[in-house]
Amino acid sequence: MIAPSDTTNRWDPSLKHRELTTAEVEHIVKQFGVSAAIAKKGGFDGIEVHAVHEGYLLDCFTMSLFNKRTDKYGGDLKGRLTFALEILEEIKKTCGKDFPVILRFSIKSYIKELRRGAVPEEKFEELGRDVDEALEAAKIFQEAGYQGFDADAGSYDSWYWAHPPMYFEKGMYLDLAKKLQAVSTVPVMVAGRMDDPDMTSNALAEGTIDMIGLGRPILADPEYINKIRNNKIETIRPCLGCHDGCFGRCLEGGSGSCAVNPECGREIITGIRKSNDIKKVVIIGGGPAGMEAARVASIRGHKVTLFEATDKLGGALKLGSVPKFKVDDKRLIKWYEHQMQLLNVNVLLNKKASKKDIDAENPDVVFVAEGSTAIVPKIEGIKKAVTAEDILSGKVAMKDNAVIIGGGLVGCELALHFAADGNKTTIIEGLNDILSSGKPLPPMNETMLRELLIFNKVSINAGRKLSKIKENSIEIISNSGTEEMKCTQVVLAIGYRSNNKIYNAIRNEYPEVYNIGDSQNVRNIKGAVWDAYEVARNI
Ligand code: SF4
Repeated sequence: MIAPSDTTNRWDPSLKHRELTTAEVEHIVKQFGVSAAIAKKGGFDGIEVHAVHEGYLLDCFTMSLFNKRTDKYGGDLKGRLTFALEILEEIKKTCGKDFPVILRFSIKSYIKELRRGAVPEEKFEELGRDVDEALEAAKIFQEAGYQGFDADAGSYDSWYWAHPPMYFEKGMYLDLAKKLQAVSTVPVMVAGRMDDPDMTSNALAEGTIDMIGLGRPILADPEYINKIRNNKIETIRPCLGCHDGCFGRCLEGGSGSCAVNPECGREIITGIRKSNDIKKVVIIGGGPAGMEAARVASIRGHKVTLFEATDKLGGALKLGSVPKFKVDDKRLIKWYEHQMQLLNVNVLLNKKASKKDIDAENPDVVFVAEGSTAIVPKIEGIKKAVTAEDILSGKVAMKDNAVIIGGGLVGCELALHFAADGNKTTIIEGLNDILSSGKPLPPMNETMLRELLIFNKVSINAGRKLSKIKENSIEIISNSGTEEMKCTQVVLAIGYRSNNKIYNAIRNEYPEVYNIGDSQNVRNIKGAVWDAYEVARNI
């Protein structure tokens, strides 16, 4: 492992990096020039040097926190920028002075301590690059000939800034970009949660930025730009900021795709083709799995009827989208509703499908997507508890000093939603750590959620199990024995059990019956959407 200096490794602090020699850095500079020339020959219009951002090698060279060198690549700011400046010079040498070269550039690192980032609005001492130094650096870069900035924020220590999850507000780099724009004579581009067309148009119109960079929104909907151009914004499938199908899938060893667009990056092996054998399809349940099955089956030309027992489509997403940081989950429900209309799916709301109702449709194929039910443990006093669903649906108001039982994703997000309004909130988790059951969250989402819980003063008690609920307290058991904890309310968020009553009752009654979504296996949005997509494209 190499680095500007012999600092400790980001992931394993017991390991030290080897400091690159001056000759090695010079060699890397040359190779940037070679690579850029290949790109130019391959027909590219310009180069973005990636990057003085996110804690990559070039970024580490620019920061005194990581760069302790005494050669020409270290020392004062100009010295620490030398690596990036020599790369520019080399690319201009191999590609010509007129060949555009821009720089990916983090305006602020958000490092509050090694391996720990700060969250928005947190007061902390910046250990990495702060805004003033960034503006100084930007002047030096543009004077040297960089012809634009692709600006963002963050580093490996605050990785969620560079790969922003849904917990950030949209356009969270714009305030920083404004400052960069003020000292720039070259265009400033910004990417990162820039998928609100109104907000981004305003930022362009006001001159806060010159260009918008889009990554994930185009994975979720490759027609994003065309749909804006053609004034069809309501048909844009939203990116959820979940990282589950893109970065998360890569980190699991798969290739990057998208939770809500299973075709992304797999277009040749997937795709929805018209069917030559038009079938009557019945779908029971209007959650993400049911709606995705309806969408895909309809595109294929099948005649689809969808039964939804409540007055609104969305299933578990309706409650999951209640926290304010889940605005894109709400947009996804809207998108599906719109798709159902565009594709003429016969949606029957407030209609619990009986055997008679299904028979009346005379279906060739039935999809059962009846969802899941919250698990309620059998312990003394459990009747005094409410579920996360009771709170999220508005049936019961959450109280100050409530205790959430279960530190999985639902429990942690509910705690954050509630604590962010200043309410005292406690999580009790039976395992040794929160967020350790179910499918692991992509690391940027997990770290940010953990930091936000700390920032919002949520009290986290792992390794403790609820054993009894009393009038104004609970009894919990841990390795150190039994303890009593005062609280005003007990909210259960300990998991879900598949509902498969309907599936078991009708599985042999029709030519094809499929159990999809949570009723097949309780998972997240990606699990529901991907399975429904895969089955529906093959009926
Ligand atoms: S997987 Fe999630 S974050 Fe990634 S592009 Fe798709 S919706 Fe967006």
